[in-house]
Amino acid sequence: MRFSRYFLPTLKDNPTDAQIVSHRLMLRAGLVRQMNSGIYTWLPMGLRVLKNIESIIKQEQDKAGALELLMPTLQSADLWRESGRYDAYGPEMLRIKDRHNRDMLYGPTNEEMITDIFRNNVKSYKKLPQILYHTQWKFRDEIRPRFGVMRGREFLMKDAYSFDLTQDDAQITYQKMMIVYLRTFARLGLTAIPMQADTGPIGGDMSHEFLVLAPTGESSVYFDKAFYDLQNIDNDIDVNNPDIVAKIFKQVTDLYAVADEKYDEESFNKNVPAPRQIAGRGIEVGHIFYLGTKYSDIMGANVAYPDGTESAVHMGCYGIGVSRLMACLIEASHDDNGIIWNKAVAPFHVGLINLRQNTPETDGVCETLYNQLQNAGITVLYHDTDDRAGVKFADMDLIGLPYQVVIGPNGVKNSLAEVKNRATGEKIEIPFDGLAEYLRSEIL
Ligand code: ATP
Ligand code: MG
Repeated sequence: MRFSRYFLPTLKDNPTDAQIVSHRLMLRAGLVRQMNSGIYTWLPMGLRVLKNIESIIKQEQDKAGALELLMPTLQSADLWRESGRYDAYGPEMLRIKDRHNRDMLYGPTNEEMITDIFRNNVKSYKKLPQILYHTQWKFRDEIRPRFGVMRGREFLMKDAYSFDLTQDDAQITYQKMMIVYLRTFARLGLTAIPMQADTGPIGGDMSHEFLVLAPTGESSVYFDKAFYDLQNIDNDIDVNNPDIVAKIFKQVTDLYAVADEKYDEESFNKNVPAPRQIAGRGIEVGHIFYLGTKYSDIMGANVAYPDGTESAVHMGCYGIGVSRLMACLIEASHDDNGIIWNKAVAPFHVGLINLRQNTPETDGVCETLYNQLQNAGITVLYHDTDDRAGVKFADMDLIGLPYQVVIGPNGVKNSLAEVKNRATGEKIEIPFDGLAEYLRSEIL
């Protein structure tokens, strides 16, 4: 992509209405624009990051055998009347009437709809277990939308729903999804700690929230530092092997970790030796629940057992805040000059900077490298405007691509590109003809 042709409205100054660093940087780096309180347009570069996050989440869901579908944003109120949540949900639900005066709503979550789909299409135990998921926009009319996309009203969520024959089977699925979530956050470059959680309005018996440490987090968190020493999570785990999963699940959940009102000083001190106690702030990025038969009972999602008797399926639900994760990644990785994307989610791998635009030598080299790198499977944003070098450096630092390749007159003379690592600031010189190979080995 050429900078001169791109839609990238960067801002030099900090927007005064943005309170936290991720919100400021998302506006300054031209990732999003607010349309209305808590409602955002994702500009081209922001959308690229959002899709990258979504894709990593999807890959891990798919590995676990979850199947992607896509449910609509608009739902019928009648479904929610069946579960009793139409009245219970309160003012966070955006209620709409269609032209026939029928009650509709913009979905804040999808338990009712997925239960409806399941009961209409699955009748036998032979189809179980099953995990279905989608990544879809949700609307919650939050009382205090704030911090940009961190707490929006319209936001993107990946929500998965599991169906099992028995509570024991549902437990296996729950444990698997916990490990899948840990793997997902690790691949995104985040450490998210699972904490025992209340089940809230969704209900059920068993629930964990995943929190990422950040000073701007809305929750207070208390946990055992030993979490950081758990080795297994980083390795490639066969999430479809229940024994392996159960072992890691036990290791993780044996460690004390709670947020907010679940905390009490006495049990923290009892369970975690003082030098291992960590207390801080955290951002909720995911939440998993075992729902039991709460929805299947009330909505009649039953399957026939081998002996012909019928019983309600055991369900679980598993949510990740996709759009919130983007803000979270920036909270976790930035400096005074701007965002520092990791290569897994970066909008482009490389920013190519031409120090002398409109001189045939540097222009020629930049064009050649631009093509070479792209042919090697590397995504490149070529800063090809006639701005001063200082402006180009500042732009590139602000938008935070993992590598910057700088081409100037001296480099052209010696056939050397300067490669800067955005995260470390380290600069090295690489010969033009080895550049694609070097970057490939670093990035892909
Ligand atoms: P919170 O406690 O932050 O309000 P929640 O517990 O209501 O979140 P869930 O129903 O568990 O949220 O939704 C699953 C995930 O969706 C959350 O873990 C969070 O990452 C994300 N999410 C929830 N509400 C918002 C929001 N208003 N804006 C952005 N992401 C959100
Ligand atoms: Mg939650």
